[in-house]
Amino acid sequence: MSSPVWHPFHQHGLGEDIPLVERAEGALLYTSDGREIVDAISSWWVTTLGHNHPRIVAAIRQQAEKLDQLIFAGWTHQPAEDLARGLIAMTPPALQYVFFSDSGSTAVEVALKMALGFWANRGESRHRILVLEHSYHGDTIGAMSIGERGVYNRAYSPLLFDVGTIPFPHKGAEQASLDALNSACSAGDIAAFIVEPLVLGAGGMLVYPAHVLAEMRAICAAHDVLFIADEVMTGWGRTGTLLACEQAGVVPDILCLAKGITGGSMPLAVTMASAPIYDAHYSTDRSKLFFHSSSYTANPIACAAANANLAIWQEGGVLEQVTSLAAREADGFAHLAAKHSLANLRQCGSIIAMDVDVTDAGYLSDLAPRMKAGFLQRDILLRPLGNTIYLMPPYCMTQDQLDRILTAIDEVLTEVL
Ligand SMILES: *Cc1c(COP(=O)(O)O)cnc(C)c1O
Repeated sequence: MSSPVWHPFHQHGLGEDIPLVERAEGALLYTSDGREIVDAISSWWVTTLGHNHPRIVAAIRQQAEKLDQLIFAGWTHQPAEDLARGLIAMTPPALQYVFFSDSGSTAVEVALKMALGFWANRGESRHRILVLEHSYHGDTIGAMSIGERGVYNRAYSPLLFDVGTIPFPHKGAEQASLDALNSACSAGDIAAFIVEPLVLGAGGMLVYPAHVLAEMRAICAAHDVLFIADEVMTGWGRTGTLLACEQAGVVPDILCLAKGITGGSMPLAVTMASAPIYDAHYSTDRSKLFFHSSSYTANPIACAAANANLAIWQEGGVLEQVTSLAAREADGFAHLAAKHSLANLRQCGSIIAMDVDVTDAGYLSDLAPRMKAGFLQRDILLRPLGNTIYLMPPYCMTQDQLDRILTAIDEVLTEVL
């Protein structure tokens, strides 16, 4: 009998095989039919420290026995209090308040609502959002509105709100992008600019330099436009620093974190805000409160998992793992690039990507699914983005596991090219 499960971003009509995974450890997934799969993309960018990290698993188990869930409107619990303080200690001092939610998309929705609430409560009419071309911020209606438009959201476009789009700062076109941001910010009705710092993930692992990010931040500050950093993917060491913003010396007004916040073990997200954002909502007037909540806001078990992640970070060694992994990835991709027809080799911390050099559009259209199938056949979890092959592994990946991935890429490229 076929399964009643409707999978995300999956065309069931193609009849593709759906592996059933029973357990996981580190960078490995074990399927019910006895296969051992290397997870090259951290189960879609979330698993930073490796699957089933024993300390995170222990924290989840302990918390589950004490307090499973609690209303968070006007109530609190120790795991959330500890986590908020821990996050504030680890991030720039200007970020003083922590608002909890449960996914990257909601963290972004919350950021947009905070920005609009800030201007509304101050009695200023600013409601337009600026975004960077090729951005991805999630799949809810607001998050889609501020992301790249395409086949994946065309049916919903009548519901999406209008935004101002700044051209991506491609190599050599950085100044044009900054000029466009500067002139867009001058309009006067701009509430905020939201950006994925240093790497645009779903947009194709597009990287841009730290100095451009720093200049973007400065332009926003000069026009009193709120600067929102969506570090849902880039946070937690992905780019070689805890936050990608650090590499540019940038402190956002609002910061979105999710994916790796629990080490990738539980759904949890936060939107961190500077004092002016919080203060704009702080009043004896109830109508100025921040109108947002979801049922599982700051779920205690998820917070306990995040606290275990923070404890592991505080002990040190995580960034060293990222550095070692990044060097080994660079080595492997250089070999592949020398052997195959590849272009645009790029890297930012543990994220490395290159494009398969094909021009035939018809051929290009089914390249990603063919490569994905080739990787799965070789027991590798790796989903190319169009003609872009990228790695985003858990930091604990061994050389042996990485070699299995590189061999599979070599074989698949030989097959498809
Ligand atoms: C994944 C992602 C999101 C959405 O996060 P979800 O937890 O999948 O809702 C938002 N922004 C960026 C940059 C992401 O990579």
